[in-house]
Amino acid sequence: MTVDNFIDGEWVVSEKEQYAPIKNPANGETLGEVALSTAEDVERAVAAAKKAQKQWALVPAPQRAEVLYRVGLLLKERKERLARILTMEMGKVIEEARGEVQEGIDMAFYMAGEGRRLFGNTTPSELKDKFAMSIRVPVGIVGIITPWNFPIAIATWKSFPAIVAGNAVIWKPATETPLMARELINIFAEAGLPNGVINLVCGSGSKVGTAMVEHPDIDVISFTGSNEVGRTIAEKCGKLLKRVSLEMGGKNAIIVMDDADLDLAVEGILWSAFGTSGQRCTACSRVIVHEKVKEDLEEKLLERMRYLKIGDGLDEEVKVGPVINGNALQKIHEYVQIGRGEGAVLLAGGYILNDGELADGYYYAPSVFTDVEPSMRIAQEEIFGPVVSIIPVKSFEEAIEVNNSVTFGLSSSIFTRDINKVFTAQRDLDTGIVYVNAGTTGAEIHLPFGGTKGTGNGHRDSGVAALDVFTEWKSVYIDFSGKLQRAQIDNN
Ligand code: NDP
Repeated sequence: MTVDNFIDGEWVVSEKEQYAPIKNPANGETLGEVALSTAEDVERAVAAAKKAQKQWALVPAPQRAEVLYRVGLLLKERKERLARILTMEMGKVIEEARGEVQEGIDMAFYMAGEGRRLFGNTTPSELKDKFAMSIRVPVGIVGIITPWNFPIAIATWKSFPAIVAGNAVIWKPATETPLMARELINIFAEAGLPNGVINLVCGSGSKVGTAMVEHPDIDVISFTGSNEVGRTIAEKCGKLLKRVSLEMGGKNAIIVMDDADLDLAVEGILWSAFGTSGQRCTACSRVIVHEKVKEDLEEKLLERMRYLKIGDGLDEEVKVGPVINGNALQKIHEYVQIGRGEGAVLLAGGYILNDGELADGYYYAPSVFTDVEPSMRIAQEEIFGPVVSIIPVKSFEEAIEVNNSVTFGLSSSIFTRDINKVFTAQRDLDTGIVYVNAGTTGAEIHLPFGGTKGTGNGHRDSGVAALDVFTEWKSVYIDFSGKLQRAQIDNN
């Protein structure tokens, strides 16, 4: 399978005709190849998007939304096929892959509904016989740059609101996961999206991503990925006065209080820490536990971990799949060495798995450190792998303080039965998402998704909040008095 570029409604070969292999991280098998495009390809996509956007913005929003509705139906029809490709391409287990496709389906139907809302405000004027309103208008051309860990969901979070709002889109998927991009683009085309409204340009971040960020005719960049790259993009966009929405890393914690249901907390930890092999921006990588229940919690966690089957995610019994590639595997292993060096106690895992059926894939044993100090690097930096650090605390207040002591602010969770602690925690945890008696993952698409502090730059994916990234506010005043009325002067 070859993934080329999709520009102006057609699959086209990149200017340079260079390709990179697409690998299955579960077994190293080559699944196909993906174009390594250039700035010239971005230029072609921009030309197509500019032409298409003017017409698309004039299509009534409910009609634009009907296309998304058909996209939703097609995603639903192909859910199983898409989930299987997703698992083969990025490694997450099939059950989670189905969940990810479902997010795309939900987002399609939700954003299709926005076609009949896209609400602005009407408000009284301070003057007689004058009408005032604010309406949403499209920004123009939207560049979206997506990572490999949620190759379809994140693309839908960004492209669906952009499209329903009347923008044209240029999408650069991660080079690791172009097959999902190809599937979604074909669905857009089948659903009847006019040519040029969505364009796909595959290739590296350094070439294609940079060309998009620096292109003067791309009006907004929406990015999900690492902090390092996000910062570079923000700096470039800042110089160009270009709008940029950044969704980056996390160092998310589950707090377990001494009154918690420990079995439930363990389920939450397993799902949040080891699901998608820890490669979620909302993954739990810290467990902040009250010292009174620390030993019990550790015992229960280690017991449950014995039954986590590791392997190819297409096997329905497998709970932990591979990580994305060899570099990720090495990075995770280095963090484990750092944790050991810092004096943390390794309770489980801490090694690469490469025996038997796992020999050709990239597998890391689910790992648990305990007696971790909040200031250690393993408790501060994003590892993006199946490694969790247990940090003991003496009180609820200390737990909140430790939770908030990182530079990230995406997701947090607390397990407790005390209603006062529940409400205090939801107020004081300084993350964009807070869960009570659930893990750190599980965002629903109709609520804003994103974080505070170093996780982002104030924007949100999902929910109505996503529309703020892809629309401008226009304030309209209509005077029907027949005379010139001067605001702030003629109203006394
Ligand atoms: P990156 O931030 O490198 O990649 C994310 C996307 O940005 C990819 O499409 C990538 O392209 C593109 N990109 C890379 N460099 C540039 C650039 N200079 N200008 C514009 N676009 C660019 O993340 P990685 O995939 O390399 O993962 C590295 C680490 O990032 C992870 O270990 C994890 O810590 C974090 N991460 C966090 C995610 C989250 O959900 N918060 C998601 C993914 C990663 P390409 O890869 O094709 O070159």
